[in-house]
Amino acid sequence: MKIGVLALQGDFAEHIAMLKRLGAEGVEVRLPKHLEGLQGLIIPGGESTTIGKLAVAYDLMEPLRAFAKDHAVWGTCAGAIFLSKDARREQPLLKVMDITVQRNAFGAQVDSFEADLDIAELKQATDTTHPYHAVFIRAPIIESVGGDARILSALPDGRIVAAQEGHLLATSFHPELTNDARFHKYFLSLAS
Ligand code: GLN
Repeated sequence: MKIGVLALQGDFAEHIAMLKRLGAEGVEVRLPKHLEGLQGLIIPGGESTTIGKLAVAYDLMEPLRAFAKDHAVWGTCAGAIFLSKDARREQPLLKVMDITVQRNAFGAQVDSFEADLDIAELKQATDTTHPYHAVFIRAPIIESVGGDARILSALPDGRIVAAQEGHLLATSFHPELTNDARFHKYFLSLAS
């Protein structure tokens, strides 16, 4: 399987390493032509404003929107913000996923945290029972999901941290920074 990782800014190398671990090929995407022949795309964490500005500069906005129509796309943290239809401030967004996000919802870098999540779909898809240990770094929350988007996971206080809309996936946290490959496995199942 050939999966692209948007490599404009952020921790794309960690996603590529995880894909390799699962036997998939991770391809760095910097230009529209790099999307050719891919079965899915991951948009990494980093700084969503920077990713958006660079995507505009490299004429990637429309090609990415077209790709997302009929391919699996997964945004982690800043990537989830970039996929959203609304981030409550002016910045370039793909607006392909019916989620509204709030950036830096948990505070500053020092307020980064980890949490165990129970994600039924993930356990089912990977035939496992243990919780998913998630890493949050200046993470957004998904304030609301609309249309066909549904909640995949929320914190005990109800704040949404993962959502899915058909073949589109958004997570507030960073599965590429853990040893647990189940989320990448789940994404590969959406892409295949
Ligand atoms: N705070 C960043 C943003 O708003 C996201 C942080 C991350 O991707 N770890 O874009």
